[in-house]
Order: sequence, then C-alpha cells, then structure tokens
Amino acid sequence: MKDLMPVNGLFSLPALGYDKLGDVISLETLSFHHGKHLKAYVDNLNKLLPGRGLEGLSLTEVVKKADGGLFNNAGQMLNHAMYFEQFSNSPKPMSAKFVALLERDFGSVEAFKKEFEQKGTALFGSGWVWLSADKDGKLVITQQKNAENPVTMNLTPLLTFDVWEHAYYLDYQNRRADYLAALWQVVDWAIVESRLC
Ligand code: MN
Repeated sequence: MKDLMPVNGLFSLPALGYDKLGDVISLETLSFHHGKHLKAYVDNLNKLLPGRGLEGLSLTEVVKKADGGLFNNAGQMLNHAMYFEQFSNSPKPMSAKFVALLERDFGSVEAFKKEFEQKGTALFGSGWVWLSADKDGKLVITQQKNAENPVTMNLTPLLTFDVWEHAYYLDYQNRRADYLAALWQVVDWAIVESRLC
C-alpha cells in the first residue's frame, strides 16, 4: 500500500472501493466499520497528533514512533487502511510466484490458510492476524493485539484479517472462525502481492 501522508497536518479517511463484499461482509457492517469505527480513529489521530513532534511524517512513520493513545489511533488507521484496501468483489487470484512462496514457507496454500485462520480464531480479545515478510523475504504469520502492526517489528505487512468483534459481529455474531474462513473469497491477491516490495 502506498504510505499515507497528512495534508495540511490532517490525515483523511481512506475511500472505500465497495459498499458490500458479496455475501461475506454486509453493507451494514461496512457502514459501521468504515464509516464509524475507522472514521473515529482518523479523527482521534488528527486531534492527538499536534505537538508530538511527528507532524508531517507518513502514517507508517507515526505508527513506528508514537506511543499511548496516538499509537493506538495511528495503528488502527494503518491497520484498517490495509484491511479495507485488500478486498474486492472481483478479486484477482494468487500468482504462481506467490503460491510458490507460501509452499516454501508453509508447505501448501491450504496449510497457510489453516494456520492463519487458527491464529485469528485463537487470538484472545481484540487484535489482528497478519501475514508479513521478514527482512530475508520469509513469510510469517503473527498475532497482534489491539492496534499493533508488524511494521513495529521490522516486518513488511502483506495481508491482515481484523478480529475485533466490530469487524464481524453484525454478520457472524460470535462465529469468528466462520468470518475468517469466508474472508478468503474476497481477498484480492494482486493487492496483497503488490505490498511485497
Ligand atoms: Mn476494525
């Protein structure tokens, strides 16, 4: 994802490229998740940013340097910007090159998806499950609590599923595992792979 920059000191709510995602995520969920939850993180980030010495930095740089409430809101803006960007109603399939990377590091695409879903389901409380590349290009799955993002561990984040209850409760209630299993239908792998630079 192109790193997001403030304009005149303010970050903007990233545009959403769809209003529902097939039968996977409803219009109602998206209107609250993007229009209310993400908007609140962006508004709070803009309120907390002045006077912290981080004005003018990109969103990723703010996430790497901030702490406390500023970190939480900047992290949640970055996490959600990546989450909403990676889905499509006409998703592109995985390239043969990316399949080969997943086979190298997880054994098979199915084994990767199973581990990713298991780690998302098992994460206690609120957070995110991520696929990232480390400095040697090895693909790794991490569980991150609350607003954490793999950039703070010097990883390159590629794919994320939001496991905060607000991401799925209207559509799936307590069935987090069903939500995670359904999300694969709308992942646009061209976008995911474009983050591997
Ligand atoms: Mn969320």
